Amino acid sequence: MLKTPAYAAAHAKAPLAPFAIERREPGPRDVLIDILYCGVCHSDIHQARDEWGGAVFPMVPGHEIVGRVAAVGSGVQEWRVGDNVGVGCFVDSCRVCEACVAGEEQFCDGGIAFTYNGQERDGKPTYGGYSTRITVDQDYVLRIPDGIPLARAAPLLCAGITTYSPLRRFGVVAGSRLAVLGLGGLGHMGVKFGKALGAHVTVLSHSPDKRGDAERLGADAFVATHDPEAFVQNAGRFDFILDTVSAAHDYNAYLNLLRRDGTMVLVGVPEPTLLAAPALIMKRKRLAGSLIGGIRETQEMLDFCAGTGVAADVELIDIQDINAAYERMLRSDVRYRFVIDIASLGREAAV
Ligand code: NAP
Ligand code: ZN
Ligand code: ZN
Repeated sequence: MLKTPAYAAAHAKAPLAPFAIERREPGPRDVLIDILYCGVCHSDIHQARDEWGGAVFPMVPGHEIVGRVAAVGSGVQEWRVGDNVGVGCFVDSCRVCEACVAGEEQFCDGGIAFTYNGQERDGKPTYGGYSTRITVDQDYVLRIPDGIPLARAAPLLCAGITTYSPLRRFGVVAGSRLAVLGLGGLGHMGVKFGKALGAHVTVLSHSPDKRGDAERLGADAFVATHDPEAFVQNAGRFDFILDTVSAAHDYNAYLNLLRRDGTMVLVGVPEPTLLAAPALIMKRKRLAGSLIGGIRETQEMLDFCAGTGVAADVELIDIQDINAAYERMLRSDVRYRFVIDIASLGREAAV
C-alpha cells in the first residue's frame, strides 16, 4: 500500500484537517497518478457537511483531479509515465449495464464507484483528490490535451462536463437564447460553453457586483435577480435556462422566464423546493436534470476546450486554506473556481 497525505473531514461538523490514507499499488489495469491540482466543487461542501445524507467519514473530498502518470500496471497500453491526465467524479462502474454500455457510466445501475464518499467495486471506501496521489483503473482516466494550463483544466472534470453535457444534449446552438442561473464554478463554465456554441448568453445572478465579471467572461447580458422587476421585464425571454444554484430558490419564478417550449435544466442540488404545475403546463415548458457526463463525453469536452480555448478561471489556493475557501463559496465569493495546489500538501507532509 502507498501511504498518502490527504485532507479529510472527520465528521459532518468538522473542518477539514490533515489525514493519512493508503492508495493501492497499481494492479495490471491501474494507473498511479501524482496529483498536481484539485478543483473545489460545491458538491464537496454538500457532502463533507452531509447535506445530502448518507455521507461516509472520514471523507477526503475532491473530484476535479489533474495530475501526471507516475506508474502504470503491466497490462496498461494507453497511458505512459509522464502523461497529463484527469480524474472526474467516478473511478469505476460495472461496465455491463445498459448505461455503462451506452457510455453513460454516471448513470450506472450496477454500482458506480464515486471518486470519494463512495466505494470501490471491492467495497473499500474511495478517497478523493485532496491528496497527493490516486490509483485509478485505466478506463476511468481522461487525457488532458496539450494547451490547457493544468490548474485551469482541473475544474473541467466536474464543472466543465456538468455544464457542457446538458447544453449539447438539450440542443443549445448558435442563436439560442441561453440564461445561466448562478455565476459560480458551474455557472462561469456554462457562460463560456454557451458562447463557444454561439448562443446569446444572459447571466441571472443574485450578486449584482458580478456584472462586470459576467461581461468579461463573454456574457451578452446580466440580470440582477434581487430586483423583483427583473422577473417582470424578462418574462418569456429565454429558450433555455441552466440552473446551477446551490441553495434553495423558487423554480417557478425562473420557469416564468422561459418562452413557449423552453427548457430549464437543473444541475444545482439544493434542498427540495415546491414546484407548481402551471409553471410548466401553461406554455408547454420542460424541466429537466443532468448529472456530470460519461467518460467518452468528458473526453470530448476536454478536446472541445483545447480546440476553442475554453478553460476555467481559477483562484489557486494552498490546501491549508480549504476551510476558508468553503466559507467564501458559501458567500458566493469565488471567482470562479478554487483550485488546490497539491504541492502545498506535499510541503506539509515533508515538514
Ligand atoms: P458555487 O461555485 O458555489 O456556485 C453556486 C452559485 O449559486 C453562486 O456563485 C451563486 O451565484 C448562486 N447562489 C448561491 N447561493 C444562492 C442563493 N441563496 N440564492 C441564489 N443564488 C445563489 O457552486 P458550484 O460548484 O458551481 O455548484 C453549484 C451546484 O451544482 C451545487 O449544488 C453542486 O452540488 C451542484 N453540482 C451538480 C452537478 C451535477 O452533475 N448535476 C455537478 C457538480 C455540482 P450568484 O452569486 O451569481 O447568484
Ligand atoms: Zn463536482
Ligand atoms: Zn454500469
